[in-house]
Amino acid sequence: MSTALALISALLPLLAAPAPQSGRDKELAPPPLVVDGLTGIPIDIVDLRAALSFDAKAQTAFASATMSFDTTAEGFPLFDLRQREVVKAWLDGESLDPLKLASHTVSKNCGSMRILEVSLPAGSRHELKLEYKVGTPDAPQAQGVLWREKGVLWDTWFSDLNQGRYLESWFPANLIYDQHPMTLTIDLIGAGEDHHLITNGAVEERGKHQWTLTFPPTFTAFSHLIVLVPASEVETAKDKVKLKSGMSVEVEVFARKEAKVNAKKVAARTCEILQKYDEGVGKWAHTSYCPVYIWTGSRSMEYDGGTTTALGALEHEMFHSWYGRGAKPASQNDGWWDEAWNMYVTGGAGRLPEFTKDGPPVLLSSSDPYNRITPGGSYMQGRMFYARLAQAIGDEKLRALMAEFYSAHAPNPATTAEMEQLLIANGGKPDEVRRLFHRYVYGKDGEPSPASGR
Ligand SMILES: [Zn+2]
Repeated sequence: MSTALALISALLPLLAAPAPQSGRDKELAPPPLVVDGLTGIPIDIVDLRAALSFDAKAQTAFASATMSFDTTAEGFPLFDLRQREVVKAWLDGESLDPLKLASHTVSKNCGSMRILEVSLPAGSRHELKLEYKVGTPDAPQAQGVLWREKGVLWDTWFSDLNQGRYLESWFPANLIYDQHPMTLTIDLIGAGEDHHLITNGAVEERGKHQWTLTFPPTFTAFSHLIVLVPASEVETAKDKVKLKSGMSVEVEVFARKEAKVNAKKVAARTCEILQKYDEGVGKWAHTSYCPVYIWTGSRSMEYDGGTTTALGALEHEMFHSWYGRGAKPASQNDGWWDEAWNMYVTGGAGRLPEFTKDGPPVLLSSSDPYNRITPGGSYMQGRMFYARLAQAIGDEKLRALMAEFYSAHAPNPATTAEMEQLLIANGGKPDEVRRLFHRYVYGKDGEPSPASGR
């Protein structure tokens, strides 16, 4: 074997392996905080194994979940689960009263989190197992399981705009700084027709309406696209695109019939979008399968390498596979830039103005580390922030630096401060970039201190 061949075969397992985690879970966690007299400590979930079963005849759903986690300090672990009916719980194999997992109000921006009322030592690993009935999540504008005459429609239905609307709607989960793998089995019994399982996880079909889904270690609580839908409700089509990197991606579209779209055309359009941003921004950071679920209405949502969307928002939602679910916000205080930059690049209403004077300060990145809401101003006011930046350092330079930011971080979390530092260091106008962040991201009047825009 030649040296070159030996090198290639040594590299092969690395190339085949999924992208590694950033390893920054503990570093990106917020500080401990006292809630209702308990010292709540952030945790680092290392693995989540769950099972979800639907009984279409009885119209009931039940779940079990086992969460392995490390503590980041000494105290009472913080996590979230917005299902109300926890029937049984165990900590490290010992039965635990579900009342010791109650929800507590953390802050206005955070809403509530559950606190495990057992004090655990710093740097220790534990396993929490829960069994619970599945109903409508206890979160703003949540949607429960939609029972059909012959089956079920279930959608993870994530949202950035309300608390408790990510993975915690259905399974024990953490805030979005935390990356970890997940294995989920889904079983559907009693269905009177075929169903499609639409997901960005790897799927193993164990039998009729029995699936095992595996999600990679780079996912955070907002990553998981899962829709279970009666086959009679959707049209499907597939297409394939070869990206600049040499990777081939298969796009599969599931279009709801009432959306009245041509699934084949949507698949072809999605392939064009993938090609455009793989070339124009950076390498696609996801798997070789991209699911797209098309519906009617104004609500749309991005996931890692896939979307559930109205047709009009397809490009916006797919662009989030670069910013938002490629380079991921490390906290909801970083959730503004994926909307703002998206609006700047993929359009939004009207031409960008020429700025001749300052506007009022705009707060897009709060200082509450437990914040869980992306502010509404992220879209239009955020777009204007990037327009001001472009006016200061040049549109071309801004796009190049944002592409650099993407490549440096995808598929891992990144912070507002990291973006700010990159633009200050390489934008050529450090004082003006710092001033723009200070006023239009941190919402502060006056001049920033030289060390930081905050
Ligand atoms: Zn968006």
